[in-house]
Amino acid sequence: MKAMVLKSIANLVETRSPLELVDLPMPILQEHDVLVKVSACGVCHTELDEIEGRTPPSKFPIVLGHQVVGHVEKGGGRARRFKTGDRVGIAWIYSACGKCTFCRNGRENLCDEFKAMGRDVNGGYAEYTAVSEHFAYPIPANFSDSEAAPLLCAGAIGYRSLRLASIVDGDRIGLTGFGASGHLVLKMARYLYPRANVFVFSRTEGERSFSRELGAVWAGGTDERAPEKLHAIIDTTPAWKPLIEALRNLEKGGRLVINAIRKEDSDKDSLLGLDYPRDLWKEKEIKSVANITRQDVEEFLQLAAAIPIKPEVQEYRLEEANLALLELKERKIRGAKVLKMG
Ligand SMILES: [Zn+2]
Ligand SMILES: [Zn+2]
Repeated sequence: MKAMVLKSIANLVETRSPLELVDLPMPILQEHDVLVKVSACGVCHTELDEIEGRTPPSKFPIVLGHQVVGHVEKGGGRARRFKTGDRVGIAWIYSACGKCTFCRNGRENLCDEFKAMGRDVNGGYAEYTAVSEHFAYPIPANFSDSEAAPLLCAGAIGYRSLRLASIVDGDRIGLTGFGASGHLVLKMARYLYPRANVFVFSRTEGERSFSRELGAVWAGGTDERAPEKLHAIIDTTPAWKPLIEALRNLEKGGRLVINAIRKEDSDKDSLLGLDYPRDLWKEKEIKSVANITRQDVEEFLQLAAAIPIKPEVQEYRLEEANLALLELKERKIRGAKVLKMG
């Protein structure tokens, strides 16, 4: 089968084509696995973190990709949940131990043995992939394959970040950064909390006007002050300075949720600008989001179908994965980027 593989950590500024098209043997199925013929696979900012070594893959060569939509080709000896031809999705959570206290208490995202699709095992930048039937999800019928793919990461983790923000309807909600996840979170927030006002902080006027179209009551730069203090702010930027700015916009007792797997180091020294009494005192909280649970994915897919959320997508061929990644790195973004197979 054809696959795009990463053979070693690479700097995308110097190595513009870090992934290589190769012919790989078909995945070997464990008894509860399903073999999935990949139809679409989303391209995620986390893949830049993997390629550039901020969250390095645990093996090389590796097939990236954790927003997979495809059809079940066959099952392992004891796989019963799906039949051949069923459409399924696979997300960032490939497996967790199922036995530790985190797994048993609905927090499998924090399991020590958490394995990530496309980082610890081969993912969806390929014609075929495999996963346990217990970590695959039926996809609601109202989405095309390409529309469903970006929901599996940006959407599901956006949903988790919104849950962790502990919002009450009527709160003032801030979103710092307005990429793939930010605009999905805005749509969810408007649906789940119809009386809440949403404030958006973004670097580009294009994103700011897009957020106003989607119902943000105010949009400004990441270094601007919102007209009112905000009860919760969700950060989806790769940088540090927006965090300090967000803390300044936060209401007393408010919560800042950082929805980022890693931060880039280029502006880390801006953390020294943190002024404790002004920025953090008065019981302000900071919480990060780590991974996702299966429950997040399942609940979010139902929510996305009900709202409905249909992401704008930009399709690439499997062989064009390097181009899609490079454009993501250079912020040439027109909707969520998806590799479309076949
Ligand atoms: Zn992702
Ligand atoms: Zn566990």
